[in-house]
Amino acid sequence: MTDTLAPVRDGKIIDGKAFAADLRAKVGRLAAQFEAQARRKAGLAVVLVGEDPASQVYVRAKGKSTLEAGMASFEHRLPADTDEADLLALVEALNVDPAVDGILVQLPLPRHLDEQKVIATISPDKDVDGFHVTNAGRLAVGQPGFVPCTPLGCLMLLKDRLGSLSGLEAVVIGRSNIVGKPMAQLLLAESCTVTIAHSRTRDLPDVVRRADIVVAAVGRPEMVKADWVKPGATVIDVGINRVPGREPGKTRLVGDVDYAAVSQVASAITPVPGGVGPMTIAVLLRNTLVAAYANAALDLASDAI
Ligand code: NAP
Repeated sequence: MTDTLAPVRDGKIIDGKAFAADLRAKVGRLAAQFEAQARRKAGLAVVLVGEDPASQVYVRAKGKSTLEAGMASFEHRLPADTDEADLLALVEALNVDPAVDGILVQLPLPRHLDEQKVIATISPDKDVDGFHVTNAGRLAVGQPGFVPCTPLGCLMLLKDRLGSLSGLEAVVIGRSNIVGKPMAQLLLAESCTVTIAHSRTRDLPDVVRRADIVVAAVGRPEMVKADWVKPGATVIDVGINRVPGREPGKTRLVGDVDYAAVSQVASAITPVPGGVGPMTIAVLLRNTLVAAYANAALDLASDAI
């Protein structure tokens, strides 16, 4: 049975928070179905090395959301001075643990640990973050695999708002492996005409001005201005930047897009916070559910979620 997500098409604001809540509820229903069929819960293991405060907040939020979706959460907290060999041994143990469907190693890792080596050790079939080169390759050649959560969340919001993206001009600002590159691949797979812009792009405003879809994943507060945006474009703001607040001593979050001005020009835009941010964990749960069905050799209809 396929139950569709409630569309979020009211007004100009793309409400990622509401969309993510619907997605999480849907994952919860399917997780209960999985448990009945597999006689075990779908499971997500999260590995945190060190005490980075932002990472601790993310890991706590992921654990809480996993439990709320009716899945098992396995948290592994290791000291900041953990040996690489010990971390790799833990990942290898999780790879063969039948209770674990998805493995996430929280980044960034302390400097003495080789992130690429650690990611390469995760089984591609449990790589629910979609960072393993095998999954990046699958995305590049159009094979099924795990796609990084943030760009997949952006695509879900775009398709919910616009329906078919075929033939649209898309400009992705940013070329990271986590957001920009997979975002561009996803848009290409939807038959957009895709431009990837970055710090060396000449005349960025002119490049952005031709876009029907703008995805900003830069990490520069309010960089994208209203006169960069074609009237009627759809704008997805991935940026999360902490800037001084209006009151002394306070801070506030802003995106990579000058929201107040750009929202006057765009036909639709994600706010920060409440846009792309909430999608990331919701898609992580979705990927874990997909992994669980595959690991248990149970069928999950391709359009189920
Ligand atoms: P990143 O790895 O630092 O990549 C930033 C990209 O922006 C790079 O490709 C860089 O170009 C480009 N760039 C930097 N300055 C630029 C400029 N002046 N003009 C054009 N391009 C420029 O960052 P990321 O991990 O992709 O993250 C991007 C933003 O998204 C950050 O604010 C991050 O916090 C946020 N984020 C949010 C979520 C979420 O859940 N909502 C998830 C992940 C990331 P070069 O390659 O040439 O250096």
